[in-house]
Amino acid sequence: MAKIVEKCSFCGRSKKDASMIITGLDGNICDLCVTQAQTILDESLPSRAKKQRSSTDFKLMKPVEIKNYLDRYVIGQEEAKRVISVAVYNHYKRIQHSSMTREDDVEIEKSNIVIVGETGTGKTLLARTIAKMLNVPFCIADATALTEAGYVGEDVESILSRLLQVADYDVKAAEHGIVFIDEIDKIARKGDNPSITRDVSGEGVQQALLKMLEGSIVNVPPQGGRKHPEQKMVQINTQNILFLTGGAFDGIDKKISSRLQTNKIGYKADRKREIIDKDNILQYITPVDLKAYGLIPELVGRLPIVTFMHILDKATLRRILTEPKNSLIKQYTRLFELDNIKVTFDEEALNFIVDKAIDFKLGARGLRSIIEGIMNDAMFELPSDNTIKALRITETFVEEQFLKTSMARLKVA
Ligand code: ADP
Repeated sequence: MAKIVEKCSFCGRSKKDASMIITGLDGNICDLCVTQAQTILDESLPSRAKKQRSSTDFKLMKPVEIKNYLDRYVIGQEEAKRVISVAVYNHYKRIQHSSMTREDDVEIEKSNIVIVGETGTGKTLLARTIAKMLNVPFCIADATALTEAGYVGEDVESILSRLLQVADYDVKAAEHGIVFIDEIDKIARKGDNPSITRDVSGEGVQQALLKMLEGSIVNVPPQGGRKHPEQKMVQINTQNILFLTGGAFDGIDKKISSRLQTNKIGYKADRKREIIDKDNILQYITPVDLKAYGLIPELVGRLPIVTFMHILDKATLRRILTEPKNSLIKQYTRLFELDNIKVTFDEEALNFIVDKAIDFKLGARGLRSIIEGIMNDAMFELPSDNTIKALRITETFVEEQFLKTSMARLKVA
């Protein structure tokens, strides 16, 4: 007959002092010691505390499926969406593949991405949507805040601290995350020729980014901030982190044009090259142009996929207002619906909003500020007025409301 054991082998509590005693082969443990042991485990192995996400957990969507998903959130930008869909597919295929690699296998290289395009054209939105689709940790870093180690500013490693925080300190999850580095153009050195540069800090940051982008084990201060000797570091392997970078690269169109001009002279026989769409010069971007702009060749080499974003024209802005899954108009409609008010927008009213965004050269970001201004009075008054159950937003309404906003007093750019 089994012996009934009365005491916890860890704390000595007897059965009457504990709610439960669990019996093992040679010892016993009470419920209080189990709780305490769990706390110790959580503290020393934070990544074990959370349910671990495995890199190969998610279903790898095909490029067409990825693009279809992106279409629900990002309007237009067809080329960028296609290029990124393929790059993301290859990246995660590479991760899944590497877990079953044989010794003699081909090593598939990382496909970090550069997206060139004016601010507000959807670069961050693209990166964020990809991360949402894959359900992997995602963070945004601003390259302008980064400095070389030893200078005032953020160390390059701080980017990974952020990713780790977003991943709830689950190192494994962070190691398969996505990082979007914005304003990468701001760390370009001035001029193509390294010997004449006086802008060492930009180049220094580029150098610091290199290792991280190509894939290495990086010591990361888990709480962020600058590294210091006593700090406990977490090691993160960046091998499988996908880096998307973006920037406006102001003036790069001239570099592209001049390259195309030179090429044209060089290849006179090739007639096709002579038809250049001058209004959309960014579509011809290549890594060579990034180098000419001031990214060091090594960094350009670590960012093999280059794509571009179109400037948002009127038709695209109009679509952005209503088509995305969480479009502004859908959001406002829902906000009013929560107060039992059915709001509808006339086509002319929507066109007015788009025209203003164009006039003020505010792009898609401007749409929100304009609508916010226009809807403010209604959003203030209607929730307290139980008699109103429907609101029709007409062109006259938006015109009148827009005149009341501070934007109306701004000069058109
Ligand atoms: P960028 O990173 O290029 O500066 P963002 O991605 O931050 O631009 O875009 C700002 C906002 O404008 C987004 O949150 C989104 O609401 C809207 N937006 C911009 N471009 C698009 C687009 N192509 N499709 C849908 N929404 C867009």
